[in-house]
Amino acid sequence: MYQVKEGGRFGFAFYTPELTQKAAERVRLENDLHKALDLDQFQLHYQPQVELSSGRITGVEALVRWQHPDRGLLYPSAFIAIAEESGLMPRIGRWILHAACQQARQWLEEGIDFGRIGVNIAASQLRRGDLVALTRDTLASTALPADKLELEVTEGFIMQQAAEAIPRLDALRQLGVAIAIDDFGTGYSSLSYLKRLPVTRLKIDQSFVRDLKAPQDSCAIIQAIVGIARNFNLQVMVEGVETAHQVTVLRQLGCHEMQGFFFCQPMPAGELTEFLEGQLAA
Ligand code: C2E
Ligand code: MG
Ligand code: MG
Repeated sequence: MYQVKEGGRFGFAFYTPELTQKAAERVRLENDLHKALDLDQFQLHYQPQVELSSGRITGVEALVRWQHPDRGLLYPSAFIAIAEESGLMPRIGRWILHAACQQARQWLEEGIDFGRIGVNIAASQLRRGDLVALTRDTLASTALPADKLELEVTEGFIMQQAAEAIPRLDALRQLGVAIAIDDFGTGYSSLSYLKRLPVTRLKIDQSFVRDLKAPQDSCAIIQAIVGIARNFNLQVMVEGVETAHQVTVLRQLGCHEMQGFFFCQPMPAGELTEFLEGQLAA
């Protein structure tokens, strides 16, 4: 069942002995995940975001990692879906939001200009009624100004639950927090919804950037998104930028910001602090 779901839900799969092994591994990982918060095994890496016109750092995105005792450093693709399905994600998400805001506050105190901090919000967090209160309380307890925080919600999550999501996002905007639509271009946004969404930024999905070297199609899509964004007064950020050629094209297309390995890999807070200090000194 999980294999079919991973492939996009519509399909079928035959039983093989490997599936039993995979299922057993999943159960083990889920058990470990239950203990991970208490054992303090999560950490955040941070990736800078850069203004295309000036090269200035405008923000950093927090990306969760799980330091598993046997398996090493695990990336979100290995555990977020399991955390969602086992109901653990809201608790983990709460830890992530608090840790990211605390780190941002520390940078502020050290006089390190990181712009704003981006935190990814999981589907289950958006679905719950307490996201607004949680955000307000976290900002208060970490003493982080609201305009330093940007929440990233994927286009798919918003569209699955637009009727409930819109008032919730409105309330978050009222707090003074910025909101970005993540993985934009993959979630079948209805344009009428886009007009009503209280968002500040569209983050174009990496898949469009990956195809930029060859065909015109991705160029046309990015150009169309930039056009829509301009009409709705939104900023456009492009993710997954890996080459100088992509930077040149994206600049020509009128995108505002970028994030990707070309500029900087995600890294632990200590390393990023050194990186930001180096940028400030330069
Ligand atoms: P996302 O929010 O779209 O994050 C961007 C992903 O692209 C990150 O992967 C980042 O490491 C990767 N990336 C950045 N630059 C490049 C590049 O130039 N090339 C390529 N190929 N990849 C690049 P990561 O950290 O593995 O995260 C994957 C996804 O997991 C994220 O996608 C986000 O949806 C989710 N995620 C990550 N951290 C969190 C979190 O704290 N909470 C929640 N709910 N979801 C998270
Ligand atoms: Mg993101
Ligand atoms: Mg994304």
